[in-house]
Amino acid sequence: MSSGCSKCGKNAIYLRRYTAERLCKPCLKQTTIDRVRKTINRQKMFRDEDKIVVAISGGKDSAVLLDVLHQIEKNYPRSELIPLTIDEGIHGYRDEALKAARDLTKSLDMKLEVRRFDDLFNYPLDEIVNIRGDGKVLGACSYCGVLRRRVLNTAAKELGADVVATGHNMDDEAQTIIMNMMRGDSIRIARTNRSRERPVKGFVPRVKPVLELSERDIVAYAHHRSIPYHDVPCPYSVEAYRNDIRDFLNAMEHKRPGTLTAILRSGESVSQAFVETSPSFEFGECSVCGEPTPAKVCKVCQLLDEIKEKE
Ligand code: SF4
Ligand code: ZN
Repeated sequence: MSSGCSKCGKNAIYLRRYTAERLCKPCLKQTTIDRVRKTINRQKMFRDEDKIVVAISGGKDSAVLLDVLHQIEKNYPRSELIPLTIDEGIHGYRDEALKAARDLTKSLDMKLEVRRFDDLFNYPLDEIVNIRGDGKVLGACSYCGVLRRRVLNTAAKELGADVVATGHNMDDEAQTIIMNMMRGDSIRIARTNRSRERPVKGFVPRVKPVLELSERDIVAYAHHRSIPYHDVPCPYSVEAYRNDIRDFLNAMEHKRPGTLTAILRSGESVSQAFVETSPSFEFGECSVCGEPTPAKVCKVCQLLDEIKEKE
């Protein structure tokens, strides 16, 4: 890229398409941090004395999340960042990703917490897939998602965290919003984006600080700051529907930069509208384990029961 940085005039190395900014390396770093800071402030994600669990997968999004938060939180000495990786027990894949997460936290001089499926549920994910034995790899993600949310929440409570930060980026979020709408499940947009001001008893609030960074921004930031990350997809990942939506949204974003940001804003309006019209989502306690759930028995207990029956 031959023209100068929009901020300082030096040699630009990156074009952030949706803001039309050409950026040199230092300005790419600074504007990335500034964008995240702005998202945090706009959505009132953190408070000065927060203990923040940062969910690290070993992949690029959460690696950039931790690196950026590490820099922002230097200005808030009373806050604390706790990186946490969940080891689902996926042979070959998670071991590599865990190594990347360890390298990252070591480079930032932080201690990595690790929680494993088989410690909490007695089964690694590979075994769950085996026990089901129906050859349906598709099922792995539905088990994994439910169990992972539980491990994250349990670990956050145990670590005394005020909030959990995850590495969802702009592309992920826009895809999820459109997928929920196309499935006729708009209420899910509101349910999965609760603000900290409306907590549910028993759930540690979740926030997405890199929500307004595109996947391209994240790759560029990770590359230019030489951040270690693991870039191999999970062997169980079968995301045909999401891939279709991704291709479509990428084409739209390319044609009309700013489309993804507009979808995020629409998602916020939908959430807000649900909050105003339905005062609370009903959560009771699971009759088996006592964790919060909208049903009588929570999904985790239902799944574990199903596995035991098949074993
Ligand atoms: Fe779990 Fe599916 Fe993600 Fe793999 S792709 S880590 S199985 S949710
Ligand atoms: Zn339960």
